[in-house]
Amino acid sequence: MAGDSAWTIEFDHYDPGDETRREVILALGNGVFVTRGAVTDSGQDDRHYPGTYHAGCYDRVPNQVAGERDITESLVNLPNWLPLVFRPAAGAWWRLDELGILEYRQRLDMRGGRTVREVLAQDRDGRRLRIEEERLVSMDDPRLCALRLRLQPVNWTGQAELKATLDARVINANVRRFEDYEKRHLRVLGAELAGPGVALLSVQTSDRRATVACAQRLHAGGAGDGGNEMAGCANEGQCGHVLRLALREGECASVEKLVALCSSLDPRHADPSAAALEAVAGAPDFDTLQERHARAWERMWADVAIEADRADVLRALRFHAFHILQTVSPHTAALDAGIPARGWHGEAYHGHVFWDELFVLPFLNFRFPAIARASLMYRHRRLGAAREAARAAGLRGAMYPWRSASEGVEVTPRHQKNLLNGEWMRDHTWRQRHIGSAIAFSTWHYWLTTGDDAFMQDCGAEMMLEIARFWASIAEPAGDRYVIRGVIGPDEYHNAYPWREEAGLDNNACTNLMAVWTLCRARELLGMLPAEQAASLRRRLALDDEELALWDRISRRMTVCFHEDGVISQFEGFERLEPFDPDCLPPHLAGERTDWALRALGRNPDEFQVTKQADVLALFYLLGEDEVTGMLRRLGYAFGREDILRTARYYLPRTVHRSSLSRVVYCGALARLDPAQSWDFWLHALETDLNPLKGESVQEGVHLGAMGSTIDILQRRYLGISATPQGLRIDPAPPPGLGRVSLGLRYRGLRLQAETRDGCLAITADGGNAGPLHLLRGEERIALSPGECVEMPLPH
Ligand code: BGC
Repeated sequence: MAGDSAWTIEFDHYDPGDETRREVILALGNGVFVTRGAVTDSGQDDRHYPGTYHAGCYDRVPNQVAGERDITESLVNLPNWLPLVFRPAAGAWWRLDELGILEYRQRLDMRGGRTVREVLAQDRDGRRLRIEEERLVSMDDPRLCALRLRLQPVNWTGQAELKATLDARVINANVRRFEDYEKRHLRVLGAELAGPGVALLSVQTSDRRATVACAQRLHAGGAGDGGNEMAGCANEGQCGHVLRLALREGECASVEKLVALCSSLDPRHADPSAAALEAVAGAPDFDTLQERHARAWERMWADVAIEADRADVLRALRFHAFHILQTVSPHTAALDAGIPARGWHGEAYHGHVFWDELFVLPFLNFRFPAIARASLMYRHRRLGAAREAARAAGLRGAMYPWRSASEGVEVTPRHQKNLLNGEWMRDHTWRQRHIGSAIAFSTWHYWLTTGDDAFMQDCGAEMMLEIARFWASIAEPAGDRYVIRGVIGPDEYHNAYPWREEAGLDNNACTNLMAVWTLCRARELLGMLPAEQAASLRRRLALDDEELALWDRISRRMTVCFHEDGVISQFEGFERLEPFDPDCLPPHLAGERTDWALRALGRNPDEFQVTKQADVLALFYLLGEDEVTGMLRRLGYAFGREDILRTARYYLPRTVHRSSLSRVVYCGALARLDPAQSWDFWLHALETDLNPLKGESVQEGVHLGAMGSTIDILQRRYLGISATPQGLRIDPAPPPGLGRVSLGLRYRGLRLQAETRDGCLAITADGGNAGPLHLLRGEERIALSPGECVEMPLPH
């Protein structure tokens, strides 16, 4: 299998123009907070954006946008804890952008969870200095992060100064599209010196719901014999220390900056300032901190256990696992935070939580059940808000918001700005009701994979039943069928019919079929729960036989629309839209977002057969060929395997893949039907955030859904491992290019390793398992005792 190189991402030259993208790739986090990999010598400017974000730390502020007052909930950029700048004697503070850079190397070590930047720099006076900066955000103690700087003058000896500060003078300015929104989210509560080498900064969000404190301790070691004098500085939102060093040619001086970040959102920190001070006071030195941090990562990597022959594949898969785990880790379980679409790495979508968790959870379910459970608890705590939203809309059950932040109410902004023509467009994307099915789907699969009956009985079942109830109330009878009107499917380019005034579309196939799926699973669930539990739940939710009969009826009579040749219509009337010719866009608009480009030309994507991302095909990604065709049969529609391919081939040329979730969805949907095409999409998805040419808007955050789905597709579609009500089903069909891969998994508390080798899939039950692992292969049931292995031939 691939060697150690697959643990690192490296940059061998400094490119200020690429820094904001690299900051995201090199961001470090521990599931409680994430800090972008920005240089330590710069604040926010055109080339640098040193953001730090805390899980679930949002600020609700009024905004005047497009002439309307709107409340926006934004993830808050917290004080910058990175500043650490250097100058020789009394010269100017050095900035990387202004120095001659003779050598440069920066790397992310994913195994150890840290970054290292090595620079040989020269100032205008010819002074050369070797600088090594190491950085970590502790996975061992989620309050702590640290920087260590090693400085070695190459051709000079003299006095120097190092300034280490905490800086609260930050705003939210990561996303150009949001320049009209309020950017200030913090007010400074205090910036002070709190003891020798210790500084303390505390801030509050402007809505006063969260307080965050940062404490720093500066420590010098091996800095020549000039003494290490330290002077404090504290003013207007900044505080820290300046350290005087006597540097000697060829000798190495080192400085450690330890920082604690504590927030009132963490129930363990009743007083964030006191907690932060206590954390830095008790923090060990950098080496010890790093050692403990590396051990915490080692334990997590042992659970991930991904190996592959191809180093590029392995590196990307680890990169994906790495950023997922930096966003949500075992530490997140103590908080009340969802899985944000773009990580806590930037300000895209204001840090909101969408359906993307659906793509991330399969990775967590099979490895980190406690983290998966915590993200579902985030949803469960907001069940009340979802019920309220349904009631306010005149519906029943739970209507979860398309975009969620702190309170579980809908936070989709009312408008979106088209940067091509400056126009504000009404944002109708909150009509994406499939979010409810996505939550039901995640709940169901979490349960099947982990066997966490307590969660299902106490929380999960209630969510699933209330979401099913919502579907039954939004579905309207029409003739002998049911219809769902006024929604938007995953393809956000279609918001309304060109021939109808009000927004929303009718009978989006993905929405309707996922509603059917939810109704079926909710009924099935009642049959699977212990009878007493099911009865008490039904009593509590006043779910009578009549209502269950209605669910059954809708699940047999829901409408799905088809084109004349049997292709599933994305929504009713899709085929009546104008065919889209990409060449209609003038060259200066050709590379732009198609919806913006069309609007800049006075047209509207609603008029055309052009889709932003896979929509109908999401069904096949999520459910697979057999389940979708089975559901269509149940509804009385004839639809075979060839129709799936016909449907995919109809939509592919009409899809512009303007969401990172588009290619992965096609990839998963086509895994069995067109392995070559699926494989191309998979390789493309592996590069979503790594390839500078393919990465879209990476500077605003990672694409967590695409990251998670590359692993989901590998385990569920290529290796064919899926948790079903009957047990763990194994049905591999890897694409020929995959080569050897090995994955560690946990199923209902038992561990297994799945490995493709010599034309077969080998499943080995861990020697430490408490009992036999049961597998389903076709009609066969295989029991693997601890340590046993079974080899299954792969299809040719
Ligand atoms: C996509 C959504 C996705 C969101 C967040 C949008 O561009 O259309 O499907 O949930 O991004 O990733």
